[in-house]
Amino acid sequence: MVLTDPILPRQRSLTFLDSKLTTTQAPVSAVTSRVNLLDFDEAGLRAFFESIGEKPFRAQQVLKWVFHHAETDIGAMTDLGIALREQLKSIAEIKLPEILREQRSIDGTVKWLIGFHGGNAVETVYIPEPKRGTLCVSSQVGCALNCSFCSTGAQGFARNLTCSEIIGQVWLAAQALGHERNGERRITNVVMMGMGEPLLNFDAVMPAMSLMRNDLGFGFAAKRVTLSTAGLIPGINRLRDTLDVALAVSLHAPVDDVRTQLVPLNRKYPIADLMQACSDYVSEKHKRSVTFEYTLIDGVNDHPEHAHKLVKLLRRLPSKLNLIPFNPFPGTKYRCSSQDRIKEFQEIVMRGGLIATVRKTRGEDIDAACGQLVGKVMDRTKRSERIKLQMAEIAS
Ligand code: SAH
Repeated sequence: MVLTDPILPRQRSLTFLDSKLTTTQAPVSAVTSRVNLLDFDEAGLRAFFESIGEKPFRAQQVLKWVFHHAETDIGAMTDLGIALREQLKSIAEIKLPEILREQRSIDGTVKWLIGFHGGNAVETVYIPEPKRGTLCVSSQVGCALNCSFCSTGAQGFARNLTCSEIIGQVWLAAQALGHERNGERRITNVVMMGMGEPLLNFDAVMPAMSLMRNDLGFGFAAKRVTLSTAGLIPGINRLRDTLDVALAVSLHAPVDDVRTQLVPLNRKYPIADLMQACSDYVSEKHKRSVTFEYTLIDGVNDHPEHAHKLVKLLRRLPSKLNLIPFNPFPGTKYRCSSQDRIKEFQEIVMRGGLIATVRKTRGEDIDAACGQLVGKVMDRTKRSERIKLQMAEIAS
């Protein structure tokens, strides 16, 4: 059966914090009525198997096939039994997005354009460093937040990605890189810092990140899986109670007027409230700290005065500061701060007691740097309605 106008049932976010398992409804594939098994995390998959009268441990078997053996053909999952495989093939599928293009930078950075059903696409980037390899993953096609210094915002917003489309980016990158070759892992860290605001797509991002963490999935430690947000406070609070991952907050200014100019969401969630949410986030679990991202833009937020104010704002919070030189893109009014300014800024905050690193720009020759990811935002019809829906989500 072909669904022409699929209505995706709301997925409930899943947690394996405190081993609490909650149930999930089956999301239906956009092209067929089959359930995509990659739209579930372990708890959801267990519930799915129970719902068809099977033992929940089938979930473990399927996850191992998909993530440990890179096998996505249900027919080849030999420990499931022929009858179950046949039944599964009629009601379910394992559907991944597709790599449309791969670009490799001279510095080793790799960028993929990953396409989804309906013609949308996002970019996923792999950044190798001597001791780690970071994969930057997207959560939405486009973004509704409209941050003035980010090229993704300028493209508008098309839709949320599904869990399978998010975890599919990691799966495809792992395959393309030969992830586990010679017993060595190519991807050691995943950051939700590609296109989109992950906390505005909570119900798909949570099961996807749960699969990144789960040993039956990619098995990354909590500190190696980072969710980056522009500062959606209700989402930060929900995240705290849902899944153990690292949190990054895109701060970009220590005072409200400058931050609102850069991140319009700041009007709704100003700095003082955001700091309270961050401090609640770290106080729950002793080991947690927050990474603050701060893009340095010439003459906007890079004055020594801003650095001093930043110290006051962050010094009592277990945190790290990631200074990002602004990456220009066509049509932007902003420029990157000078090397001297960046150095001076870093010195002030470090003298003030903060831990601050300056992020090296990588993959410049293939436009793979922060805020330069574009993808392909299709079906712009009803764009204003889609953005309105996202805004309603923000307001709720
Ligand atoms: N919406 C999320 C995740 C996506 S952006 C968030 O805001 O955190 C990932 C990071 O890249 C953010 O810190 C963002 O502010 C930063 N960024 C965006 N555009 C940039 C640019 N042109 N130059 C440098 N950093 C940029």
